[in-house]
Amino acid sequence: MSIRSVLIVGGGFTGLTAAIALAERDVAVTLVDKAPAWARVGHGLTIQGNALRVFREIGVIDRVLAVGQPESSVTLALADGTTLGVMPTPATGGDDLPPTIGALRPDLHEILVDRAEELGVEIRLGLELTDYVNNGETATSILSDGRREEWDVIIIAEGIKSQTRPKLGITEDRAPSGLGIWRAVTTRTPDMRGSIAFPVADDGGAFKVGYTPVSADQCYVFVLCRPERTDNGLEGYQEVQRLMANFHGEFDYLRESLNADTFLNFQEIEWIFVDGPWHDGRVVALGEVVHAVPPLIAQGAAQCVEDALLFAQLVTEPGQLSDQLDAFYARRLPRLKGVVDASLQLAAWEQNPGTPHADPGRVMAEALGALVPAP
Ligand SMILES: Cc1cc2nc3c(=O)[nH]c(=O)nc-3n(C[C@H](O)[C@H](O)[C@H](O)COP(=O)(O)OP(=O)(O)OC[C@H]3O[C@@H](n4cnc5c(N)ncnc54)[C@H](O)[C@@H]3O)c2cc1C
Repeated sequence: MSIRSVLIVGGGFTGLTAAIALAERDVAVTLVDKAPAWARVGHGLTIQGNALRVFREIGVIDRVLAVGQPESSVTLALADGTTLGVMPTPATGGDDLPPTIGALRPDLHEILVDRAEELGVEIRLGLELTDYVNNGETATSILSDGRREEWDVIIIAEGIKSQTRPKLGITEDRAPSGLGIWRAVTTRTPDMRGSIAFPVADDGGAFKVGYTPVSADQCYVFVLCRPERTDNGLEGYQEVQRLMANFHGEFDYLRESLNADTFLNFQEIEWIFVDGPWHDGRVVALGEVVHAVPPLIAQGAAQCVEDALLFAQLVTEPGQLSDQLDAFYARRLPRLKGVVDASLQLAAWEQNPGTPHADPGRVMAEALGALVPAP
């Protein structure tokens, strides 16, 4: 094994999964995050089976399934409440795992932090990477507390807004997708199992509205819309209610459940895809630093944790890092390209309803179907 000590910068899905997978392989791991403390609030996520497959590999699947709501399909509907059909979700993690779960991000984050700590990962909060130096067989980090330390590898897992990305020689930058999204965590009734609804006409500014259960009595609601926050003087929850005004059926209940105390946020959706390489010497970017897509097939976190596990598997085998990275890119880049192409195609169709020959169902099914074999 050529890798014995690793610094990971960023403690999201990517950084924590890499930390756990490396620590399980007897690598000494230190993880730093600029957050002064872990946030215990956050929105809901749909986690696909191929992410669950990684969670099984890193020893957290029982805990993840205990906090998530498993689903195997989603109901498609029109805004007026008419059901169009039920779309089964491909079992991207294999038939012995749920095709998807809905869960709250802070619950999943806490599980990953706990597992990392159990394995002896040293976590230091409130720190950033100021600079690094490649020394041939090692790399030196300079952190924002002034400490200089030497590692076999430094992993950059800072997310899509990474400050370190340009220092790696990566010229691609995050770009607008043309979409914005409101997300809210609210209550649901037991019979509500998840739905996506499409407008009958372009009447309220929403491209589509949906919800996913995240616990026995909660769900997260999303409203896909234009990327600008409309300047109409409305409170956030009132703006979401306005965008949902023409969506009926279960969405009447969800709209009425929103109030000034509802956890919600709005953000413009950006994307990036760096078609390799992702490293400068012994400093390697993983996850959303180098690939982020509009969440239209809900593969963001899954692709991040696939990166992290495969990287840990390869660099702890005997061999040279440069050869291991070549093998890593050969297995990751074509798979990611399929996810990126499908997600961008779906984002374009969302913004141009009525595009001749648009076939979102086919694109989604093919993109997810291609992920069933492990990377
Ligand atoms: C609107 C929206 C909806 C989504 N929905 C889904 C979904 O349903 N399912 C799904 O699978 N994916 C979804 N995603 C994608 C998913 O959230 C991301 O793929 C995933 O969170 C990225 O993980 P990451 O660890 O690479 O980055 P992040 O989660 O961004 O984590 C980066 C970490 O690095 C830290 N950091 C940043 N800069 C520094 C620095 N300079 N120094 C130290 N620390 C730093 C941050 O504090 C943070 O903790 C969605 C994304 C968006 C935007």
